[in-house]
Amino acid sequence: MTLLELERALAAFVAENPGNCVETSYALRPEYVGTRIYEAPLMGCAAADDPLFAYMKQSKEIYGPTLRLPEEWLPGAVSVVSFFLPFTKEIRDSNRCDLTRPSDLWLHGRAEGQAFLDRATAYLAELLREAGGKVAIPSQDPEFYVIRDPARAERGEPPYVSNWSERHAAFTAGLGTFSLSKHLITEKGVSGRFSSLITDLPLTVTPRPYTDPYEYCTFCGACRKRCIVNAIGEKEKDNRICSGFQHQMRERFAPRHGCGKCQLSVPCETRRPKRSGAKMG
Ligand code: SF4
Ligand code: SF4
Repeated sequence: MTLLELERALAAFVAENPGNCVETSYALRPEYVGTRIYEAPLMGCAAADDPLFAYMKQSKEIYGPTLRLPEEWLPGAVSVVSFFLPFTKEIRDSNRCDLTRPSDLWLHGRAEGQAFLDRATAYLAELLREAGGKVAIPSQDPEFYVIRDPARAERGEPPYVSNWSERHAAFTAGLGTFSLSKHLITEKGVSGRFSSLITDLPLTVTPRPYTDPYEYCTFCGACRKRCIVNAIGEKEKDNRICSGFQHQMRERFAPRHGCGKCQLSVPCETRRPKRSGAKMG
């Protein structure tokens, strides 16, 4: 099994699996049935012993001690595979205009889209196991956690604590860099979802074509203007304000939630933005 074979298998799964379309059983409106959720994926691979993982664990500013290293998820880990599924134009367009709430299709993209992402990850794990490997999926591991801690928010720290980050794995696997809006800018932009899995099979490591963690962000400020609750400042995003709004949306639209306005109608929506002439707005 090579990384290219794995990426092709994922692309076929995304193209052909009916779970990548809004289904009758849960559609909030009949006209949503059949809407595709994700476009073709991007995939990258990091070495499990890449020193960047240990560095992120040591650095409170970047991640901190709660991060579990690949070896801690899977003893004998060799490779960390990360992938990005970009949202389709239909999902993105639906959420562009009304800045007061997430669109129904966006809610589907976040909720049922996450369920499909989990299935796609489990499918890749099955392929790697069939090829003789051991696999761990941090986001589906019983020991995985994401906790919202209001006390941290009061201290001015990011309110969520977790022991694995899809964005940090994707950064390490060469998929893209962080942004002012705290997304990861890939060659296919920011609007979509990430997942990852760890295996003891050796796979070709993807080069990281960047050195700066924010290299792909132009700091143009367009995402700042899109935010309903002014969570994005000139230099950074206030996670407390963003997560507070997301929390409200979770209460209003349970079991679904979302926002995503800062991913849309911005230069990094579907591509890596060009740097020339960009200014903070
Ligand atoms: S809209 Fe501009 S500032 Fe915001 S994340 Fe994208 S490139 Fe960076
Ligand atoms: S997700 Fe919504 S609330 Fe959070 S920063 Fe983006 S636009 Fe603002």
